[in-house]
Amino acid sequence: MEECIFCKIVSKEVKSNIIYEDDSFIAFRDINPQAPTHLLLIPKIHINSLNDINEENVNVLSKLCLIIKKIASSEKIAEEGYRVVVNTGANAGQAVKHLHFHILGGRKFSWPPG
Ligand code: AMP
Repeated sequence: MEECIFCKIVSKEVKSNIIYEDDSFIAFRDINPQAPTHLLLIPKIHINSLNDINEENVNVLSKLCLIIKKIASSEKIAEEGYRVVVNTGANAGQAVKHLHFHILGGRKFSWPPG
């Protein structure tokens, strides 16, 4: 996926503010933060969106959940609460076609979302 900006972040071709990395995942600060804490957690393998989760790659999601919990704790937003957002497809406004989990914290969020 040569044209994918998040694949380029994974390969370090594009610089980012990385706050977590292991063999399969990377989390970095969103370039256009919508909250005091705004991180993006992504699998290193290219998956377009939640629509492309299948029997073979579904374990990515369970691992992601454990990392979200770890990051929320290290970013000190676990106690007061945080929001996890996965925009999927056009109606949700997904701009980058590489599965990513927004982790937002540090302020109160309204519901329903806009
Ligand atoms: P979405 O609308 O869910 O596809 O969100 C894509 C997110 O990626 C947006 O919040 C952007 O601000 C963020 N983003 C795009 N390019 C970069 C980048 N190079 N580094 C960090 N965040 C980025």
